[in-house]
Amino acid sequence: MKVGILGGGQLARMLALAAHRLDLDLLVLDPKPGCSAAAVAPTICADYEDPEALARLGRCDLVTYEFENVPAAAVRRLGQSVRIVPDPEILVETGDRLLEKRLLRRFGFPTPRYRPVDSEAGLRRAVEEIGLPAVLKTRRLGYDGRGQRRLCAPADLARAWRELGPQPLILEELVDFDREVSLIAVRSHDGSIRHWDPTENRHVDGILRGSRAPARGVAHGSLHCARGWVDAMLTELRYVGVLAMEFFVRGDEWMANETACRVHNSGHWTAEGAATSQFENHLRAIAGLPLGSTRCVEPSAMVNLIGEVAGAGSVLSVPGARLHLYGKSPAPGRKLGHVTLTGPTSGDLEASLELLARRVGDPVLQEALGAERIA
Ligand code: AMP
Repeated sequence: MKVGILGGGQLARMLALAAHRLDLDLLVLDPKPGCSAAAVAPTICADYEDPEALARLGRCDLVTYEFENVPAAAVRRLGQSVRIVPDPEILVETGDRLLEKRLLRRFGFPTPRYRPVDSEAGLRRAVEEIGLPAVLKTRRLGYDGRGQRRLCAPADLARAWRELGPQPLILEELVDFDREVSLIAVRSHDGSIRHWDPTENRHVDGILRGSRAPARGVAHGSLHCARGWVDAMLTELRYVGVLAMEFFVRGDEWMANETACRVHNSGHWTAEGAATSQFENHLRAIAGLPLGSTRCVEPSAMVNLIGEVAGAGSVLSVPGARLHLYGKSPAPGRKLGHVTLTGPTSGDLEASLELLARRVGDPVLQEALGAERIA
């Protein structure tokens, strides 16, 4: 079977590594020369709308994506010649923060309070209703904290509108959460759903610095309830593949922040920490193969390597550490790879995390690992 992948970043690279074991042939499309997946899978370097590239991808048995901001016209055109899984229809909603919130509320997910904003006067009205502090975000194409501004005082409004407008925006209440948690699930063609353990995530400046699974401080009842919303959504949409849902958790209250209709950065730990990784199960799901167990094998963590990479030796000498590099040259703010850590007990995992923070010598990472360690 030949699987096409839209997007050739680090997630496509991990999918490709899992695909080799399943003997799936791949064809990746990415406009960036030398993208991360190119070293491990046949890759077409062309624009997403390039007709010849789309025709080649259209000859695969099915196509999936690791990057959801592929132009809608290209996806529509591709969909005429090949099945795209998961169904790209959902991207119309998840690609727009306002439509996404409405979609989530339809399936029962609580979300932060929000208002659409289309003008500076509209921003003032929205702030009167939502209050401050709040977060102003672009409705489309924002990621890793890009396209968002925190508003703390009325004086911040004009500047935030100048920087982000004029384009459709959304104002959200700033949630004073205890922790951020993602739920990652996979649904197969036959409708069976499996969940990995909840993952606790630490972002700094909007960028994911590290994750830990199983998430701590998550009450069984509220987890069960949140998984119920995810199941309802996957089932009603007849979704096939991996989906990740990011939540703000405050006490027992869960608020959905964002959906990713693909494998997710916060699920990197599953490569070594779970019986079957998110990458393998995504491929199994879309290829119509039985899903593998999502059981957490050992307490696990993931640390993103951003900007520069410490020597491989110093990372790999940390007990339970595995290094995943993406083949990118160092640059400030660039995600160059990640480290997964597993330990027989949470105490072992925490000791390895502390050691890694010192070895990597990254002050931001140390801050992220902070008092609560990697929260
Ligand atoms: P996003 O691109 O919406 O996932 O935002 C990136 C990160 O910014 C989140 O993971 C949070 O750490 C933070 N953030 C975004 N929206 C909010 C919010 N409404 N309240 C508090 N923190 C937020």
